[in-house]
Parts: sequence; C-alpha cells; structure tokens
Amino acid sequence: MSKIYNFGAGPAKMPEEVYEIMRKELTNFDGSGISLLETSHRTKAYMQFNTEVQNVVRRLLDVPANYKILFMAGGGTGEFAAVPLNLMSRTGTADYVVTGDWSAKAAKEAKKYGKVNMVLPPTDRYVGIPDQSEWNLDPNASYVHICTNETIHGVEFDFIPDTKGVPLVADMSSNIMSKKVDVSKEVGLASTAADEIILWHRRMGHLGVRNLMLLKNKMADGLRAPVNQAVPLPLTDVTVEYDRVSTHHEEPEIPEEPGNPALENVEVEDEVWESSDEGMKQILRMFGVIYAGAQKNIGTAGVCLVIVREDLLNQALPICPSLFDWTANAKADSILNTPPMFAIYVMGRVLQWVERNGGVEGMAKLAAKKASLVYGAVEESNGFYSVPVAKNARSKMNVPFRIGSPPNEDLEKEFLKGAEALGLIQLKGHRNVGGIRASIYNAVSVEEVETLVKYMKDFQNKYA
Ligand code: PMP
Repeated sequence: MSKIYNFGAGPAKMPEEVYEIMRKELTNFDGSGISLLETSHRTKAYMQFNTEVQNVVRRLLDVPANYKILFMAGGGTGEFAAVPLNLMSRTGTADYVVTGDWSAKAAKEAKKYGKVNMVLPPTDRYVGIPDQSEWNLDPNASYVHICTNETIHGVEFDFIPDTKGVPLVADMSSNIMSKKVDVSKEVGLASTAADEIILWHRRMGHLGVRNLMLLKNKMADGLRAPVNQAVPLPLTDVTVEYDRVSTHHEEPEIPEEPGNPALENVEVEDEVWESSDEGMKQILRMFGVIYAGAQKNIGTAGVCLVIVREDLLNQALPICPSLFDWTANAKADSILNTPPMFAIYVMGRVLQWVERNGGVEGMAKLAAKKASLVYGAVEESNGFYSVPVAKNARSKMNVPFRIGSPPNEDLEKEFLKGAEALGLIQLKGHRNVGGIRASIYNAVSVEEVETLVKYMKDFQNKYA
C-alpha cells in the first residue's frame, strides 16, 4: 500500500516510532509475559508506569511541585463537567471565554452547576480572540475558563490572559505539548501593587491572619506598604505558595499578634527571599488547571490529562461523582477505579517520544515551520485559498481554509477527492464550518506537510 498522509483532527496521527514500541510490547508489558490489556491496575509494574507518565509530564512542562497530575476517564468532554463540579463551589459563578465550539460546549455544561458569565459578546463566527481590554471578567468568578486552541475553527491563544488572580482553567486538548507553557506564569508586580497582592491572596483563600500580617510586613520592608492594615481572614490549612524576589536581603521580624488564639498554630511555609537587581516581584501561580483530552498530541481517546494546582482541591460540589472528583483521584494517585490503562500507557510512550525529540521546545520549532508552510501557501495563492482567522490567532495545529471567494464547495470536494487519491486523508473541515482543515499535530512530519503544500500548489495551478 502506498503511503498515507493523515491530517485528521483527532484521533490523530501517532508517531511511527511509538507504533513500533507498542507492537513489541503489546503482548509482553514490561517483561511480564502478558499484555497490559490483561494486567491488573494494582500491579507494581502498572503503578510504576503510572508514576513515570506523571513524571514525564512534569519534566516536559516543568510543572511545579504544588500541582497534581491526574489521568481522568471521560475525555475532554468529561472534564467540561468536572471543572465546574470541582471548582464552582468557590463562588457559584464562573467566567467562560468562548472562542469556538469547544469552549461553547464547556460553558453549556458548566451552566448545569452554577452561573456562567460569558466574557465575550456572543457570536457564531469564531475568527479571532478579542483583545483582553474588551473582556468582561467577573472579579467574583470561581475561575476563568479558556480553550487555548479551538480545534474546529483553528483559533489559538498566543498569550496567557491576566485573570487578576482568579484561577485560570485551560482546555489544551489540541495544542498541549506543542509549545512551552509557563504553568506557573511569573508576574512581576511593581511596588504600588502591594494591595493587589493581598487582594489576590484573599481571593484565593490562602492567607490566615498571621500569614497576611507576615506578608504585609515583608512587603512593608521591601515595598514600604502600610503595615497596620491587616484584615482578619478565615484561617485555612492551605499552604501559602508564593515566591518573592526582593531588593532587600534581610528577613523582617515576624510580628506576633497577642490576644488572638486562632493564630497559635499557623505556620508560614515555602517562602523564598532573594536579592535581585530587577526589584521586587512575586510569582503568582496563574494556571489553576490545565486539561487535555489525549487523542491529538498525547495518545489515544478515553483519557484526559489534568494538571491541577493543589489549593484548588478539596472543594468539589457534594454532587460531584467520585470518578470526576480531582481530590479523590489525587488521593488515589489516579487509580481510584480501573483507569483507562491502555490509553495512559499510550500517553506515556508518546510523551517519552516527545522527550526524545527535543521536548516541547523541539515540537514548537517544528510546529512553527509546518504552520508557516501551510499558511504561506495560502498567502501566496492570490486569494485562491483563504483562512478566515485573524493572523494573531491562527492555530499552529489546525489550519482551516476555504477555496474560492465566496467559497466554492464543488471545488473543495474536488480538492478532497484529489487529495485522497494521493493518500492525503482526513482533510475535510468540521461539519460546523465546512471547507478544508489540515491538522498538523506533533506526529505529522515536515515532509508530510511539504507534500500537502505541493498538492495545494498543483491544485491551484490546475483550477485557478
Ligand atoms: N476540547 C477540545 C479543544 C477538543 O478538540 C475536543 C475534541 N476534539 C474536546 C474538548 C472533547 O474531547 P473528547 O472527544 O475527548 O470528549
């Protein structure tokens, strides 16, 4: 059979090398003499693999220690429900930034569990991401949900939004591991932002009274912020997770608060003070949750990777099924019941392949090259091909394009027919938008994209 070029949007092309490994291991997992398909999830071999998959995710994305890594059943759609079930209890309301059909579905699901604030005006034409100055964020939201890459519309975020301390929840199903993600995005705060920092900690429910006092005094030391405004807050058992970098080297005295018995057993942990020429800044853990269905860049359908900041655990709604409860899954190390073991195994082998091939930085370089080839062919076509998406929001994973203006559906059918005859398959656009869509995930090689681009040029020469 001649070569197949698979540009499907998902389940998507897998790396050849991973197939070779899986072929060898299919009936003999880890030298046990039997297949993983008939191995207990409580065996040492599986449990070790489960840990290795978590470790490789941590290494690839540089996930800080205060985030749990979970493997959840139910795919991306399962997490559309799990997100509000686990987080909506904070304030009963959540912000949804709808930039395509997948984030629209996530918002629809969340409405079952609380109030949903639509951050952007409604539209049925998803062709970009409005500037953050136009966003209607609710400061009282439990979380802000975004989809970093809309698989159907080819709309991708090229920035991490500033949610002013409200936890950011990101569906990265179709672009995870295609670029570096700053999981704990660093936000430099100027000295005047002292109150903002405190407000953020209050919103996050991080600070007990003494912690707040300590923070205020530290800031007073470095920032000359007022020290006498400590606001009594409910004490929580959440570890305060913040790193500070200061121009000042000396540890200030921690003031005792006499007469307040609630303060006696409060401990302040995990503080890092250093001197720096850049002045004072605080690292705010911006991503609350990252989740990704596996069947595009990290394996096969049925499992969803979830990366969740620890302070967001322990607040699921009482109706949350145990299987969807991140806290229960974290406690059980993602072996709460029989997990989708094979899908998790495939994820592990795919991620190890990413690691062997330059990690996410390596994938990002290839993604940029592949995307520029396809978009380049569109740009150079004198309007024969067109991409509806604004340039700053064009996806490097899914390139939707039309032929003719207005689009000529007969010509598009002809394009797809000719492509299939050459082995270039699964290029049909999603039924909601029509046209053509080339999905060029990590496993699709530059050579394969060059073959597609050559076909696009030949087709244009024939029909333009
Ligand atoms: N989010 C995004 C961005 C997707 O592309 C998809 C599936 N294509 C989903 C969520 C839903 O994933 P699943 O089919 O695993 O439920």
